[in-house]
Amino acid sequence: MTLNIEEIRALFPVLHQEVHGKPLIYFDNAATTQKPNAVLEALMGYYENDNANIHRGAHTLADRATRYFEKTRKSIQDFINAKEEAEIIFTKGTTESINLVASTFGRKFITKGDEILISTMEHHSNIVPWQMLCEEKEAMLKVIPINDDGEIIFEEFEKLISEKTKLISIVHVSNALGTINPVKNIIEKAKSVGAKVLVDGAQSSSHLEIDVQELDCDFFAFSAHKLYGPTGLGVLYGKRQILESMPPYQGGGEMIKEVTFQKTTYSDIPFKFEAGTPNIADVIAFQKSLEFIQNLGKSNIKNHEDELLSYATAKMKEIKGFIPVGTAEQKVSVLSFNINGMHPFDVGVMLDAQGIAVRTGHHCTQPLMQRFGLEGTVRASFSVYNTKAEIDQMVASVAKIAKIKNK
Ligand code: PMP
Repeated sequence: MTLNIEEIRALFPVLHQEVHGKPLIYFDNAATTQKPNAVLEALMGYYENDNANIHRGAHTLADRATRYFEKTRKSIQDFINAKEEAEIIFTKGTTESINLVASTFGRKFITKGDEILISTMEHHSNIVPWQMLCEEKEAMLKVIPINDDGEIIFEEFEKLISEKTKLISIVHVSNALGTINPVKNIIEKAKSVGAKVLVDGAQSSSHLEIDVQELDCDFFAFSAHKLYGPTGLGVLYGKRQILESMPPYQGGGEMIKEVTFQKTTYSDIPFKFEAGTPNIADVIAFQKSLEFIQNLGKSNIKNHEDELLSYATAKMKEIKGFIPVGTAEQKVSVLSFNINGMHPFDVGVMLDAQGIAVRTGHHCTQPLMQRFGLEGTVRASFSVYNTKAEIDQMVASVAKIAKIKNK
C-alpha cells in the first residue's frame, strides 16, 4: 500500500510551523519522533476524564484508568509478539530498561571472571550500565569490532564469544549509522554457549517488525518517544522464566504482596518491577501511537522510509565534499555524514537557519565516533511524515554549505 503522506502530515500539529521564517523540515526522528493528534488528545483526555491512581482503587475512575493502562500493556504484547502480557514491564525508557537488567539480572547472575559482550556501535546507555556492573563484579566487558561500513564483523564476534560469555547486549539498529545488526544470528550463537541476549530496540521498534518469540531474545528494550509516543516511557520485555528469577529493581508500593517489618514478599511479574505510581497518562496515550502504526502498517512505513533513505543517499552523494558515515548494506532511516573541511555543528546550525532540523555531534556513541576517527557527524533521520520534497530542500542547502569549503 502506498501511504498518503499529506494526510499523515495533517495528523501532526508540530510539523506545521515556520522556523527562522522557513517551513520546518524535521529530520531528527532518531532522537525523537513527533506525536500525532490522537496521542495528544489521549494525554489531555486522561487528565480531563479519567485521572486516578491505578490498580488499587475501588472507585470507577480508578477502575477505568487501570483498564486503559493495562490495555496498552496488551497492545505492546501484540506489537512485539510476546507470549504474555506479564512479560511487558513499563520503565522510563530504553535507558532505564537496560539499567534494570544490569542491576537485577546483572547483580544476581554476573560474577567474577564472567564476560559481557557489546558492540562498537552501542549507545552510551548500552555501555555505561555494563561498565558499572563489570567494575562491581570484576567481570569483563568485551567489544565486538565493526568494519569501515559500520557493520559488525561476525567472525570477530565468533572469536569473542565463549563459555565465559554470560550476556550479550546489542543494538538492533544503530542510532548513529542506521545499520541493522544481524541480531537473530547473534542470538542463535549466544544460545550455543548459554549466554542471555538483550536487544536494544530503541531504533528498530519504529522501523522493523519485531517478534521477540521468533528472535528468541531474552530481553528487548525500547522507548515510546521514538514510536510517535510520549517521552519518559519505555518498555522492557523479558522472558517469564528469567524475569521470575531476577530480584526486584526498586522497592516501594505496587511491587509487594505483603510487607511486615520482618519480611516483604514481592508481587508477581510484571508488577514486581514496577514500584510506585507509574507514568499512567503517557502509558494510556501510548496506546494511540501503537494504533497509529498499526493502521498504517509497519511494512508500509518502512517502505516509505527506505525510499526516502535511498533517494537522499543518492542525491547527497552528488555533492562535492559529502562524506557518508555508515554505509552498511542493511540500513534504515539514518543518513549520517560530514562535509569535508567543516565541523558538523556548523553544518547543523546552517541547516537550522533554513528550517531544517538535524542532529549533530557524537549521538551518544563516542566510542563509535572514535572508531571512525571523528568528533561527530551530521545526522538526518527520516520518518513516515517526511517527503522527497523535504529531502530536495536539504540537499540544496547542504550543497550550498559544502561549497564554502569545496569549490
Ligand atoms: N539506545 C539507542 C540505540 C538509542 O537511540 C537511544 C536514544 N537515543 C537509547 C538507547 C536511549 O533511549 P532513551 O533516551 O529513550 O532512554
